[in-house]
Amino acid sequence: MSLSLFHPAFKPKPFWWEAFEPTPLERADVPAKTRVAIIGAGYAGLACALELSKHQIEAVVLDAEMPGFGASSRNGGMVSGGVSIGKRYSGKNTSEELLALYADAADSFTLIENLIVEEKIECEWKRTGRFAGAWCRQHYDAMQKKVELLNEGADAGAYLLPRERQREEIGSDYYYGGMVVMRSAHLHPALYFKGLLEAVKRRGVTICAKAPVRSLSQSNGHWTIDTTRGNLDASEIVVCTNGYTGAVTPELQRRVIPVGSYIIATEELPSEIAESLIPKDKSIYDTRRVLTYYRMSGDRKRLIFGGRAKFGQYTPEETAPLLYKFMCDRFPQLKGCRITHAWTGNVAFTFDEMPHMGKLDGLHYALGCNGSGVAMMTYLGTMNALKIAGVGNYHCAFDREEFPTNPLYHGNPWFIPLVGRYFRVRDWLDRHLS
Ligand SMILES: Cc1cc2nc3c(=O)[nH]c(=O)nc-3n(C[C@H](O)[C@H](O)[C@H](O)COP(=O)(O)OP(=O)(O)OC[C@H]3O[C@@H](n4cnc5c(N)ncnc54)[C@H](O)[C@@H]3O)c2cc1C
Repeated sequence: MSLSLFHPAFKPKPFWWEAFEPTPLERADVPAKTRVAIIGAGYAGLACALELSKHQIEAVVLDAEMPGFGASSRNGGMVSGGVSIGKRYSGKNTSEELLALYADAADSFTLIENLIVEEKIECEWKRTGRFAGAWCRQHYDAMQKKVELLNEGADAGAYLLPRERQREEIGSDYYYGGMVVMRSAHLHPALYFKGLLEAVKRRGVTICAKAPVRSLSQSNGHWTIDTTRGNLDASEIVVCTNGYTGAVTPELQRRVIPVGSYIIATEELPSEIAESLIPKDKSIYDTRRVLTYYRMSGDRKRLIFGGRAKFGQYTPEETAPLLYKFMCDRFPQLKGCRITHAWTGNVAFTFDEMPHMGKLDGLHYALGCNGSGVAMMTYLGTMNALKIAGVGNYHCAFDREEFPTNPLYHGNPWFIPLVGRYFRVRDWLDRHLS
């Protein structure tokens, strides 16, 4: 491993934490009683609390760590309205169900955009769109169907960009063309989280940091939530633990697969290079199975480059060199620049590759972002609150009876490294033989 790629001021933590780092707040005591207990203080948990407060429903949010310590202050900040929904389904048919899912995903984009305005959240929101780079010719050809679905179901403003025109969007010839989706944005994920946190605090919701839930029990229709800082009684529980879901909720743990995702941030780049990498400031991801995703920082001085560098749980220092290589494969002009930050966080995959909300064993849940949850987990948290409040008769398409698991899976994703190997082989074959 070359040490020279690390800047002398390198930090193994999110670049975003330079602007806002999760802190333990005032360490509020765990109260004895509430109407709704929310487990997990990320986007989903806070959005749920915010919406409940609008309906005068008392809620307490509990987090094992500091609020925002999970994926919600660590992600890439790329916001889509359905681009990643139903990766497995897209291109297969235009069933009513699929279009309903796209419509809800599109609504998640509207919701987050409105929320940022209503709560006056300063989070570098930029509605600049997204470019999906085709890893091989076959992937480019398959994008036509996806463009149609996105436009029909999510009014996404999507179109194909052939290889000879891709330099309009990216200073690289790495891809076989791609798809532009105009109804997409990027933001500063930790500042968005901070804004959400302030909105919830303004409404007087109790947020208990460093209060891991150890067990749940139910009697006479009431829940007792045992935390390391005392017991809380509640009528309803909403589980918003996503990629950090543990043994406290074993049936939910069996339905989500935690997977590490990794990001690096470059040092500030010379302006002529920085401006030419992604000229229209879009977010970029590719169709490779060993996915990469990247964008410029809000001030357009650095590249923020993420991906599934390794399959399993590794340190940021271990994964940074591989991400750096992926970055230079796409942008050879970046060879020699140094990394100032590298970090990791968990996303939650599901067996059907779809996000889910619903009720299992009496517990409400919003889980399974599948790597794309800035808008979606905000949305599912909100939809859970509306369901508890009994407002309106709208049925969210992600609120489904079916939340699949596998009889052999109990929460230990031992098979992830094998999946990684399979993905690498398939990627190689796709790129070289298609
Ligand atoms: C590196 C990375 C890059 C990503 N990039 C993007 C992107 O560009 N665009 C996008 O849309 N999405 C992205 N995502 C996904 C997105 O960040 C997540 O979908 C979203 O933040 C999930 O929010 P959440 O509230 O559901 O969960 P989280 O923010 O993960 O919060 C879960 C919380 O539950 C708490 N918890 C767990 N167990 C307990 C317990 N027993 N008691 C109390 N608390 C508990 C944890 O401490 C944690 O704070 C990325 C994720 C990662 C990790």
